[in-house]
Amino acid sequence: MSYVAIMPSEAADRVDVVVVGGGLTGLALGAALGSADIDVVVVERQSIPRLVATTYDGRVTAIARGSKLLLEAVGVWPHLAPQAQPILDIVVGEGGSPATVHYDHREVGGEPLGWIAENRHIREALLARLSTLPSVRLAAPATIAEIDRDGPQVRLGLADGRTFHAALVAAAEGKESATRAAAGIGVRRWDYEQTGIVCTLRHPRPHRGLALERFFPDGPFARLPLRGDRSSIVWALRRDRAALVTALDDRGFLGEVADRLGDELGDLALEGPRWAYPLVLVWADRYVDRRLVLVGDTARGIHPIAGQGWNLALRDVAAIAELVVDRVRLGLDPGDAAALERYAAWRRFDSLVLVAVTDGINRLFANDLLPVQMARNLGLAAVERLPVAKRFFMRHAMGLVGDLPRLMRGLPL
Ligand SMILES: Cc1cc2nc3c(=O)[nH]c(=O)nc-3n(C[C@H](O)[C@H](O)[C@H](O)COP(=O)(O)OP(=O)(O)OC[C@H]3O[C@@H](n4cnc5c(N)ncnc54)[C@H](O)[C@@H]3O)c2cc1C
Repeated sequence: MSYVAIMPSEAADRVDVVVVGGGLTGLALGAALGSADIDVVVVERQSIPRLVATTYDGRVTAIARGSKLLLEAVGVWPHLAPQAQPILDIVVGEGGSPATVHYDHREVGGEPLGWIAENRHIREALLARLSTLPSVRLAAPATIAEIDRDGPQVRLGLADGRTFHAALVAAAEGKESATRAAAGIGVRRWDYEQTGIVCTLRHPRPHRGLALERFFPDGPFARLPLRGDRSSIVWALRRDRAALVTALDDRGFLGEVADRLGDELGDLALEGPRWAYPLVLVWADRYVDRRLVLVGDTARGIHPIAGQGWNLALRDVAAIAELVVDRVRLGLDPGDAAALERYAAWRRFDSLVLVAVTDGINRLFANDLLPVQMARNLGLAAVERLPVAKRFFMRHAMGLVGDLPRLMRGLPL
């Protein structure tokens, strides 16, 4: 695959938007803007081969229906579809308790509830799309030497001497963002004191598109279906427990996993390494500053319990891309302060809901006091019996609720 490269040059280059960070969010923003012919440069500090290597990131992502509509609208989905596993059913329950909620795709029109794809495949698909967009350039690996936002335009200098002038800089640097810190934007942090253990399993029996989320007292355990007879495990554990589990050899580890999964899938085998991610909530005090917007995990990085982090990030992408494209088409400044405030207001409520929901679910299910346990079981049983509530939760998780930007409704920019 060939990617768009830029040659070192001393001359300043003019673009509409500079995106700092070429993770899943930055690349998606590049694809969204580029598909509407906006001039963009995406600056990523890692090399491209590293970003798509099997040894870089063991994570997978649950892609909600609204996110798939965006990926279709910006031309990424055809590159990803062959690698994405449809989710047909989701079963949520507590430990070994029989009280579960069963979400069935047939209850919401028969389309899959979502798709699971490996992060490296998502990156590959995004890069493949970028390579077809003439208005998008990728600088990778590249190091930022300075960002000057004081003048009428942003001036961004790279360590190799290249300089860009842009109307707007979008920081998509993940939870630890140097651009956010340099802008003086503070963050609130909450350490869950949990570690997310992630791995891929092979199994002889099919998963039939079923995703499982089980809440144990020491943390939630999810099994997500992948293409082929494979599943991804995302297991959040208190840090002390996680250290013990991580220290097990593969056989011991698979025994712990089988205790939680049962033998429905047959003998389990590990595919590739096991990964461990510290789980922290990071939430920026503001989403905008002069000619600067924060997107994705840089705006807020949430607990992975509901598999919503990138889905939320794509709603940031859709919102800022819509504002930028509408203004550029009218000959207006896309970095105008009032436009950026509109972005911040648009995104604040959605973020607040998801931070509160993911945090609340994690605390509720991490509590093993008997009354809390009973309330949880009653809650799951009640949701299971209330079709209206169930459909609401399903539509919300599918990203189909709220004041949605055009791309999230599958409309072009
Ligand atoms: C265990 C786990 C499971 C998850 N599961 C799901 C799920 O099922 N569904 C879901 O929607 N979300 C999920 N998430 C969340 C999701 O992974 C994140 O929301 C998403 O990856 C955020 O992407 P990002 O591009 O905003 O940040 P990052 O992935 O952190 O990317 C930031 C990029 O910016 C680059 N960068 C940083 N600083 C600079 C700089 N100064 N200059 C140049 N480049 C820079 C980095 O190299 C990196 O490539 C999960 C998270 C975890 C931890």
